[in-house]
Amino acid sequence: MDLFSLKMRASQNKGRQSTHISGAEKIVRSNEIYQETTSLLRRALTRPLGEADFINIKLERTADDEIIYLNALPVQTVEVTHVEEGLQEAQKRLEQLGALTNERILDLLLQAPAMRGAMILDIDTLTRLEPDQTRGVRATYMDKVKQCSSINYLDKNHFEEALVLATKVAHAPNIIGEICISDDPDYVTGYVASKKFGYVRITKLKHFGSHLGGRIFLYKQTEGTLQDTIRYLQEQKVLVQFEQSPKPNKWAKIDESLEQLKNLNLYRTTKEIHSAADPHVLYNKQQVAMMASNNYLNFANDERVKAYALSVGQTFGIGSGGSRLTTGTTTVHNTLEQKLAVFKGTEDALVFNSGYVANVGIISALCSKDDVIFSDELNHASIIDGCKMSQAQIVVYKHNDMQDLEEKVRQHAGCRGLIVSDAVFSMDGDIVHLPELLRIANQYELFSMIDEAHSTGVLGQTGRGICEHFGLTQKPDILMGTLSKALGGEGGFVCGEKRLIEFLKNKARSFIFSTSLSPVTMASSIAALTLLMEEESKQVQKLQQNIRYFNACLARHGIHTRSETAIFPIIIGDEKKAMHISETLLEQGYYISAIRYPTVAKGSARLRIALMADHTQQQLDDVASSIGQLVKEI
Ligand code: PLP
Repeated sequence: MDLFSLKMRASQNKGRQSTHISGAEKIVRSNEIYQETTSLLRRALTRPLGEADFINIKLERTADDEIIYLNALPVQTVEVTHVEEGLQEAQKRLEQLGALTNERILDLLLQAPAMRGAMILDIDTLTRLEPDQTRGVRATYMDKVKQCSSINYLDKNHFEEALVLATKVAHAPNIIGEICISDDPDYVTGYVASKKFGYVRITKLKHFGSHLGGRIFLYKQTEGTLQDTIRYLQEQKVLVQFEQSPKPNKWAKIDESLEQLKNLNLYRTTKEIHSAADPHVLYNKQQVAMMASNNYLNFANDERVKAYALSVGQTFGIGSGGSRLTTGTTTVHNTLEQKLAVFKGTEDALVFNSGYVANVGIISALCSKDDVIFSDELNHASIIDGCKMSQAQIVVYKHNDMQDLEEKVRQHAGCRGLIVSDAVFSMDGDIVHLPELLRIANQYELFSMIDEAHSTGVLGQTGRGICEHFGLTQKPDILMGTLSKALGGEGGFVCGEKRLIEFLKNKARSFIFSTSLSPVTMASSIAALTLLMEEESKQVQKLQQNIRYFNACLARHGIHTRSETAIFPIIIGDEKKAMHISETLLEQGYYISAIRYPTVAKGSARLRIALMADHTQQQLDDVASSIGQLVKEI
């Protein structure tokens, strides 16, 4: 079968300047062209550095006899704990290659301005030999030999690609070795490679966050000319076989990923709380004010809610024994759904096992690959995951920017689809411009879906949420919400027309293929909802009063955050600083979470304060004062 060389280069254009953001190459069979091209295009369009403005795909037919087949260099990993140790390991390998002035080589590598290609360095004289010293020399036309067993063999694509490149380079005429450090600030593993000792990965060759990096091919004239070396690197087609490589280490990716998270201050752990979710909790043998919980109305440990849930447990037991469509629908499940529909003023309602699976189930049932979903850039992860799972085209609009939304909708006029947004944004606490969003959805005949996780029980005079807040009679087509926040329990729900609910019962996989929630859990939501509807909208009033009061406290202490909801984000920026402030506040008796990437964008770490109806004004004053002080000190 014919072979083709396939190359992808992607760049971003800022003014006249073009910046490379992604590149890859493959040698593929004719029947693989479409699949491989699609995968390269996807890669170019989903870079962490941003979307490409220009993508060049180059496909060239090549004959089998033009290709050299090589065995991959044997791989060895040298674990080091700090950069100095890593550099010493690299120096040792360079010495084995006969480089006496090896420190100079490392200096050259880390100090040269970033180049797309590599330096060719005469190992005896340390003279740079590459003809174009601003671009360097690029080794291209190479790939691995595809085989099923190689697919899972290595932990990361870019490691695999590096090994293919290093194998080709190690076999170049006159090249006795190579040293490489990636210029990716998050990737600190580098390597030294040669035919003599194989491919030696060294786990730390630079500090996290450093943009330094480069590649040097070490040259010693033994056969032919420099031109032969360059021709081989740039033109010779090479396929690398992985068979004789060492056994894979299935834990390598996991270990590396944990290490990387720690280095980036993004490692997460759970904290054990020794009491119920009250405004005060017992943590680490200390009573602390809980200012991070979504238990806004303080129903999670309410005596009346618990008593009702326990009594239902006595009658219905603790497990449902099946999925909703088999044996898992009890009177309690149906009662809660009817109550939710009355509460939200819709024809019907459906309960899912959590807010997360509600979003994933609803969106992936409603949309498929022929649809377009317009999604706010700060929507909750469960919405993002639902969008991805649906396989629809996802168009992300600027945060709460209805003009941007309308422009994007207009570009897709006539398409079937959905506009989806949080009602209250979970990490920013601001409120969607719902009247405008509904106007756009109606005008362009799109479904509208609003996630009321943080608006139910919080917004509107009686806590009915976003529509009550805006005084709207028209509702979004899909009103999704959670039972896990202001209602203090567990579960997700959707309210809407009967036909929507019937459709979801039949199509939402996360509803169909999971055992339904326990009758006890359902009962706790019935009790909390009853309290909210019948007697306790005064809790909503108290919460809203606390929100107003806390705005004033923050202003008094020089903090600029304002919010109309229970969520107050205090932006710190740096992840480490945010963690530090959160830990210090805990020592002072305030439990406030530091929210970091990937929940929010890198460099926008924040304290997320969540208010409860039963926080006292004294507590609010005190915490605002402590935060004001700490923020001033950083
Ligand atoms: N939607 C939003 C906006 C949220 O903040 C959350 C909470 O984490 C969810 C959905 C998921 O809800 P649950 O915690 O019930 O799974």
